Order: sequence, then C-alpha cells, then structure tokens
Amino acid sequence: MNSFNYERATAPEAAIHSGSAHNAKFLAGGTNLVDLMKYGVESPATLVDINHLSLNQVVASPDGGVTIGALVRNSDLADHALIKNQYPLLSQALLSGASPQLRNMATTGGNLLQRTRCYYFTDVSFPACNKREPGSGCAAIKGYNRIHAVLGQTDKGPASGETCIATNPSDMNVAMAALSAKVEVQGAHGKRTIPFSEFHRLPGSTPSVETALKPDELIVAVTLPPAKFSKNAFYLKIRDRNSYAFALISVAAGLEMDGGQVKSAGLALGGVALKPWREPDAERLLIGKPATIEVFKQVADTLLRGAKGYEHNAFKIEMAKQGVVRCLTLASQGTTEGTQA
Ligand code: SF4
Repeated sequence: MNSFNYERATAPEAAIHSGSAHNAKFLAGGTNLVDLMKYGVESPATLVDINHLSLNQVVASPDGGVTIGALVRNSDLADHALIKNQYPLLSQALLSGASPQLRNMATTGGNLLQRTRCYYFTDVSFPACNKREPGSGCAAIKGYNRIHAVLGQTDKGPASGETCIATNPSDMNVAMAALSAKVEVQGAHGKRTIPFSEFHRLPGSTPSVETALKPDELIVAVTLPPAKFSKNAFYLKIRDRNSYAFALISVAAGLEMDGGQVKSAGLALGGVALKPWREPDAERLLIGKPATIEVFKQVADTLLRGAKGYEHNAFKIEMAKQGVVRCLTLASQGTTEGTQA
C-alpha cells in the first residue's frame, strides 16, 4: 500500500475543504475503499475520515418521508423501526447484502459509492480497463464476463460499441431506486439535491466518471418520499450462494394496491447495468392493471428491452425477466420476507 495522509474531520465544512484537495478521498466505513487501496486500484494522497460527523440519524421528514444520514450503518438502517415498517423493501435489500460484519461497518453514503466488482477492474495486473485507466480498453468485453452488464452499456444503444460493461454491485441502491430516493449533497458552494435516477451514470464515453457528485461534494443524506409500498414490496436477489455474494440479478418491486389493481409501482433491476435499471414505460404498464402473470410478463419484456448479452452472461436476460415476474408476484401477494435464490 502507498503511504497517504490521514485527517479527521469534525464538521462537514472542514471535511469538504480537506476533501477537495488533489487526490483526497473521504473515509467512512472503508469496506470498499480500503480493499481497493490494498489492491493498488486506489491510491489517495489524503484520507479524510468523516466518521465523527453528525450524520448518523434516521429521522421522519416533515413531508411524511424519511431522512437517512450518510453515516447511518447498513445494519442500523435495516433494523430501524421506521425503515422496517414503512420501507421494508430497503430493509430486505440491505439484509441481503454482504455479511453481518460488513453491514455493521458500511455506511449509507459509502454504499451509494460502491465500486464495481469487475475482476479486471480490481486486478491491476490486467492493463485493459477503461474505468481504471481511461483509454486502455475493456478486458471484460471479450473476457470472462459472467457478472457483467446486459443493459445501458452505451448511451446510443447496443449497436454503438461499448467502453465498459461493468455493473453496480449494491443491493441498497436497487431498493433506493425503486423507492425514488434523493441524494442530498453539500459542497463548497452550498447544498443540492440529486434525484436517485441521476446520481449514478452509465459508462458512455467516460466510464471512469461514475456519479453526478462533483469533486468538492460530500453526501450528507438520502431522503425517501412518503411510503407507498409498505404492504406490497419485495426484494429478490439471485446469486451463486446464499450469503456473502453479489447479485447475478436482483429485482426491487414496490406496489401500491387498490383492491386487486395496481395503483402505483416502483420497480428496479440490479446486476444488469452500471446503475440500478428503472424504465418508466415498464412501470406505466402496471398502473390500473390487475396483478397477473400476463401483465408482469409484459412488464418484464419492456424492462429488458434492448438488452444485449455476451459470451458468458447472456443467461442474465431470461433470468432477469423471470425474476421480475416472480418478484412482482411475491410483492402483489404481500410477502414480507425477502428471499434469495
Ligand atoms: Fe474495466 Fe469496465 Fe471493462 Fe471491467 S467492464 S474491465 S471495469 S472497463
């Protein structure tokens, strides 16, 4: 590991000042960043420890929603009464991720910024990785790409060529997307709010730029709107083993039911793109419709519209479609416990 400076911040303003220095990184739970430093993928000149900032509360918002401080640990968030009762989708997704020890350390803000687990990204002995070394190529496109993306690889559709086919590894992010969260950030010039759908970026021509965060900005909170899916929500995670594994695909589904019909819906896919995949056309298909397999199949086809597989991951497309149907079925039935497959 390279040597680096260490600073401990006690106020957001001081953290933002220190964090805006060249090659400085914020340190929260460290469950991803420290690993990447050991691998030689990250080599910050300065680590700004933000663990002592007062950003560790979950509070009800005046609008009926909830505000989650950026330093709330994943375990605490999953077990918080407000989250378990009003936003079970988020609680399920958090509990499906990583291991109890990692969830005890990992923070809400850090989880938002989790980096891809693409093998070629985390192993610096592979020279071709546009995300790690812009312009160097992408070893995964013709390599072992079982865990990689099938959606959103380019801005212009599957035919226009790819720069990066990595996926976002977070479970929490998939639930946050389906719940229409917003990310509150603070920078040297004040605060701003970023809709969740605009926070993570697709690779386009700059796969090394992963989020809408500016270099001097610190995530301070995530807000959720008033809960609509507390009774009918399900997080389905399909992975190679039942614990401590990233999703091959995952589905977060929240339904607001009116009798047997869907009144509103939030639906997002994980494991398929560099950001949680949400498609308004797919959700619109649900509105005013009965909760039937036939409707859910149409939704799945629309959500996976334009998907493109590679040598080792084409199976994900059909797996995701079947996952969407299963997850929507379980959500519509009011199943409350998350399940892994
Ligand atoms: Fe790098 Fe992205 Fe290609 Fe993986 S998929 S090797 S992260 S450019």
